[in-house]
Amino acid sequence: MIETQALGKRYGDLVAVDGISFKVEPGQVLGFLGPNGAGKSTTMKMVAGFLAPTSGSAKVCGFDVESDSLLARRMVGYLPEGAPSYGEMSVRQFLGFIADVRELPAAVRGKRLDDVIGRLNLEGVLEQPIETLSKGFKRRVGLAQAILHDPKVLILDEPTDGLDPNQKHEVRSLINAMARDKTIIVSTHVLEEVHAVCNRAIIIARGRVLADATPAELEARSRYHQAVSMTARDANAAREALARVVDVAAIEVDAQDGRITAFPKPGKQIFAAVNEVLKERNVAVREIALEGGRLDEVFRSITQAAPAKEVRP
Ligand code: ADP
Repeated sequence: MIETQALGKRYGDLVAVDGISFKVEPGQVLGFLGPNGAGKSTTMKMVAGFLAPTSGSAKVCGFDVESDSLLARRMVGYLPEGAPSYGEMSVRQFLGFIADVRELPAAVRGKRLDDVIGRLNLEGVLEQPIETLSKGFKRRVGLAQAILHDPKVLILDEPTDGLDPNQKHEVRSLINAMARDKTIIVSTHVLEEVHAVCNRAIIIARGRVLADATPAELEARSRYHQAVSMTARDANAAREALARVVDVAAIEVDAQDGRITAFPKPGKQIFAAVNEVLKERNVAVREIALEGGRLDEVFRSITQAAPAKEVRP
């Protein structure tokens, strides 16, 4: 559905996107992660046909975004960062305008408009100028314009940025609902979003792809993956007990909350053995958990390691 090959963009001397290649298959919701300035927006603009690449290529549904620009753009719904629109227009006027720009045939125009208005719950604000809407509603209007022509591919740039937790939840639910019949790229610097909506994640920094994996695979790279953490009444007794488990590689105690974490040796599982030794030695724990892995730690190590290696002599 989407394929980029060594896609690149320079702004003067600045290399914003430095040869990015990836493919997105039908049914995938690809999270585009990276720190601010990583090149996410620039990449999305190029795939959406809003910005010409300076090198490489991008195709949407087989159409090249440069040589088959119009056909490629027809396949794509695009929500730019901040969901810009025309503030003085009412929601009804704006969506009507987009329907004209998208050249929706008269036979389907009314039905498509009704469909997106219903899907995004915009009935109550149709006559309201967009500039008077709350951020959450503005974002819904942005999503409505993106899906009005029922595109196969959706490109959403920071769709939940600046929203409150309830609005974030609402937009994520909408994305999940749309994922059933669309291929979606969604950029974010909010890691919880990856769990909430994505089945694949690409981490980019300084214009390059540094990781391309499922959220679970990324978590498995965390040093917390398969670690066992607990809070115990007698922390010293717990640490002594944990030290007896053969496959425990390290034990750490959080200076702030006293939480104890036992890290396994590479490839080892320690949960059962830890439980056993705690029971054997009668160490009371308030709660104990098997860690899946921490995405924030993986994100930090991936995005911070790369530049450090490059600049140090
Ligand atoms: P992200 O979306 O990951 O935050 P962007 O793609 O917006 O990153 O930006 C990548 C880099 O390109 C940044 O250093 C940014 O300052 C720069 N940049 C983005 N747009 C322009 C532009 N129109 N002119 C010059 N530099 C730009």
